[in-house]
Amino acid sequence: MFSIHDEEKLIELLESHGHKKFRYAQIENAIYKNFVTHFDDIQTISKDLRELLNQNCFYQSLEIEEQIESADSQTTKILWKTSKWHNIESVIMRHLSWRNTLCISCQSGCPMACTFCATGKLWLLENLHFSEIIEQVMYAAKLLNDEWSSLRNIVFMWMGEPFLNYPNVKKAIEIMTEQKKINLSNRRVTISTCGIVPGIEKFTADFDQTSLAISLHAPTDEVRREIMPVDHTYPLDTLMTALDKYTKKTRKRIFYEYIMINGVTDNIHLAYKLWELLKWRMAHVNFIPYNPWEWAGWVEYSTTPKFLIQKFQKVLDEYGVPSTIRVTMWDDIAAACGQLANKNKEKLEK
Ligand code: SF4
Repeated sequence: MFSIHDEEKLIELLESHGHKKFRYAQIENAIYKNFVTHFDDIQTISKDLRELLNQNCFYQSLEIEEQIESADSQTTKILWKTSKWHNIESVIMRHLSWRNTLCISCQSGCPMACTFCATGKLWLLENLHFSEIIEQVMYAAKLLNDEWSSLRNIVFMWMGEPFLNYPNVKKAIEIMTEQKKINLSNRRVTISTCGIVPGIEKFTADFDQTSLAISLHAPTDEVRREIMPVDHTYPLDTLMTALDKYTKKTRKRIFYEYIMINGVTDNIHLAYKLWELLKWRMAHVNFIPYNPWEWAGWVEYSTTPKFLIQKFQKVLDEYGVPSTIRVTMWDDIAAACGQLANKNKEKLEK
């Protein structure tokens, strides 16, 4: 059995049973444009071909373990179980302006061990196959379509480091942006990395317009190393050199994520350091108030008070580096990455 999203295998199957090429186009149209989820509902193909699909392919291997809506119904969080019995999460964020965004996972767990991250506490459980990444997307696209809305943006910003599962991530981006499939603009797909330099270099070579976000979280190696072990391997000067090459090729602005952790990343002198680092670069900073989470009853950090985040932002404003403070839409559904998966893991271990 293989995934219906695996075009190569599907074409091979159709050819080996004497079906003409246009049959693939009919199946593709039903799956990606008409959101058909059961092969028996594809009316444009024969009964025999539907049977062939049922015997050889599956539509979805991920199972929904939990689906939670935030109190204001703006955010939906889905906890999935993979066929290897690991959890992953995806989050749909609805915006009034229809800029609906889906945050997806590319790994279960993550080996990068950032100290503030619930996913990092799980370590790496598995790399997702490209079809499992696409299944998250198709589920959200269908859900929004049923609400007379649509999916506008996809962000690889939930569980996992995309450049540690790059072949599958690359293939998934190709399916997301292919006209006959999900047909999202490249600009509306964003890959977010903690700063794996060889991955950034490959990505720069492979894609022209796909957006890039960097989990920067500190403007000096000293502070960054405290919270992000990746900085030992790829320090800031190496990282910034790779990012400058991306900007030079794409002429695109890079998004820098900056987590505001009380007493760790929010000293005002770091705001000036951040400005120094980004002042000549095409950059936009997203300040993310740290979302406290409990793991085994232990809370590690606390959130920077709002007035201090605003003070920090004012420094960048004054010197012309654009920034926004992320609105936390989702506190009531434990929506920082990895929180649900951690809770579930604790339940299973009890
Ligand atoms: S912040 Fe990203 S890279 Fe770091 S541990 Fe979490 S998921 Fe991995």
